[in-house]
Amino acid sequence: MTAAPPPASASDGLDLGALRSEFPIFTARGPRFHYLDSAATGQICRAAAEALLAYETRGRANVKRGVYRLADEATQAFERARAEIAAYLGAREAREVVITSGTTHALNIAAHCLCARLRAGDEILLSLAEHHSNIVPWQLAGERVGAVIRAIPLDREGRLDLDRLGELVSRRTKVIAVTHCSNVTGAVTDIGRVREAAQSVGAVLVVDGAQRVPHGPVDVQALGCDLYAFSGHKLFAATGAGALWIRRELAEELPPFLGGGEMIRRVAIEGSTFAAPPHRFEAGTPPIGPALALGAAAAWLAGLDWPAIHAHEMALAGRLLAGLRTIRGIRPIGPEGLQARTPLVSFVVDGVHPHDVCQLLDERGVCTRGGHHCAQPLHEALGLEASTRASLALYNDEADVDALLEGLEDVVRRLA
Ligand code: PMP
Repeated sequence: MTAAPPPASASDGLDLGALRSEFPIFTARGPRFHYLDSAATGQICRAAAEALLAYETRGRANVKRGVYRLADEATQAFERARAEIAAYLGAREAREVVITSGTTHALNIAAHCLCARLRAGDEILLSLAEHHSNIVPWQLAGERVGAVIRAIPLDREGRLDLDRLGELVSRRTKVIAVTHCSNVTGAVTDIGRVREAAQSVGAVLVVDGAQRVPHGPVDVQALGCDLYAFSGHKLFAATGAGALWIRRELAEELPPFLGGGEMIRRVAIEGSTFAAPPHRFEAGTPPIGPALALGAAAAWLAGLDWPAIHAHEMALAGRLLAGLRTIRGIRPIGPEGLQARTPLVSFVVDGVHPHDVCQLLDERGVCTRGGHHCAQPLHEALGLEASTRASLALYNDEADVDALLEGLEDVVRRLA
């Protein structure tokens, strides 16, 4: 085994066994299950699973509508979940949080609503590191108003090259939308620098937080962005719910995205007026159970020892990165060190397609992801078609990393 030893005291103070036992899947699937695909979806925590089941079996009613007790309880639980999500994000007020179906839905709301304020020739600045869900909605909405899409290039390590902001940002820049953390390189964006650039020209700053939220509570106030999007299933809750935080003053100015029930103030055949945020952006029946699960996950996570979890995650990421570097024919991509990086590593196995890598690893119970990870511009910028990604979360342990490294040595022996 070639893995480098982790820093000795990295996860001191963290009872990993107790933490893992809060995720039912590890008990269900046993020791030969090495889940290294949390960047695609996190495993559900007990608090979220129980909240979902409790709603569906004991508390199910539609929200915001009925006057009977069950419906009122469901509405209150839904609004409590909103407050728990708001607290996890460091929002000033719960009403700044819009419940969505996930990051993709959230970013479509952002793009649709913000582009309604743009004129032909205005610019939207993205980056080459974006997930497709922070590119395509801007292209679709931007095309309708004639807005121009520009992109921050990447530096040698695959980080956003923020030295280029000066030449990319101008009075024409009305929106800047960037990822907080790349889902391929793990690089954490220096949002402070992007914010300065946005503020210098009065542009709205949208942050895709999908890969940041699983690694601890966020402080949207300190970040200084205007909108922040994420998915509940990556925050160890159910699939089907996520959130979009919109700074209150901005939310009040924005038009709705989807039209329908519950987002209106008054409807007449001649025209309609709309409810105040967040309800203006929540047309139709929301994903109630998944939202309650998300609130429960956020509340449980908020109480954990994040400095210890961070040390644990980064020690494992270090073990992974060091181990990958010792295997012939494997090239990790992204930042060379662990600084400003989330615990995920994508890599190329020379001469072997990522799907074959993943299939062979699966024979050993190791779950990884191969492909372009919905980030084709990033792969193109790095001169790649695809990569294999191993992504860690708070529940992973050394056995997971070592099983991956042993599996990769075998892949190289057999195929490379
Ligand atoms: N942005 C990033 C950075 C992501 O990693 C993902 C999920 N891979 C998304 C957006 C889209 O999330 P969802 O599919 O849950 O809407």
